[in-house]
Amino acid sequence: MRSKITDKAAPEFMRVKFWGVRGSTPTPQVENLRYGGNTSCVEVRLGDRIYIFDCGTGFRVLGHELEREFGDRPFAAHIFVSHFHWDHIQGIPFFRPLYDSPNSQFVFHSSSRTRGLEQVMAEQMASPYFPVNLDQMKAKRDFCDIQNGCLDMEDGIKIKTAWLNHPQGCLGFRLETKEGVLVYATDNEPGDPNFDKAVRKLAEGADILIYDAQYLPEEYEARRHGWGHSHWREAVNVVMESGAKELILYHHDPDHTDAIVDKVVRDARNYYPKVRAAAEGMEIVL
Ligand SMILES: [Zn+2]
Ligand SMILES: [Zn+2]
Repeated sequence: MRSKITDKAAPEFMRVKFWGVRGSTPTPQVENLRYGGNTSCVEVRLGDRIYIFDCGTGFRVLGHELEREFGDRPFAAHIFVSHFHWDHIQGIPFFRPLYDSPNSQFVFHSSSRTRGLEQVMAEQMASPYFPVNLDQMKAKRDFCDIQNGCLDMEDGIKIKTAWLNHPQGCLGFRLETKEGVLVYATDNEPGDPNFDKAVRKLAEGADILIYDAQYLPEEYEARRHGWGHSHWREAVNVVMESGAKELILYHHDPDHTDAIVDKVVRDARNYYPKVRAAAEGMEIVL
């Protein structure tokens, strides 16, 4: 799976920006704010193409930034949703361009193995959970159902997916472009041989591997089996065994302060040097 796209179409760079890095629930507490308190959302720019992975509360902040950038000009984005747990969809009703940009277009990609995203969005905004009706969203929305496999996007960009080991399922994504390969694999518990193999194959040779490191290894062992998450030691195993280059620890536990995440990074670097922890606002350019 070590393929980079070789044709010479439009994008000339890949810029990755983290808008939400926290797992499970937002944590706007002072001791967490250096890494950040918003839940899962990563933006990838490929030239003027916009790809977004997950719609946690960081998605709301990204929406404001896109409105600032584009003003009245319409724009388009592909949005990949790994699964429908709250921390991956909670920003959708607060993403302003969905209401305010009638000529903008958002293509949502997810799996309807349990439920379609369109239905999930309607339910999320239904009475009595939300004050505004879904039909207030004026932007064009399309919903694509993806399963295990490969999506051919514009400009020769490819998205490959694999199921991860998580309650109700979670999709991992591999974005292949001529600029580089990014893998977004969050919400994945180690220990099942088939899933362990699948995530290593998904990550093979990637330039950037964004990976679930919610727990400390000792927390996982003591009381978190079956909760669907990984820890930094397994993240290091995955990066080393897949031949991916840079590891970004992601989906930080809500109870992990900045000091704990700092220590996790130090510990992980004893095993593999190219490790960082995702932080809100952090950018990587390939
Ligand atoms: Zn999650
Ligand atoms: Zn989850």
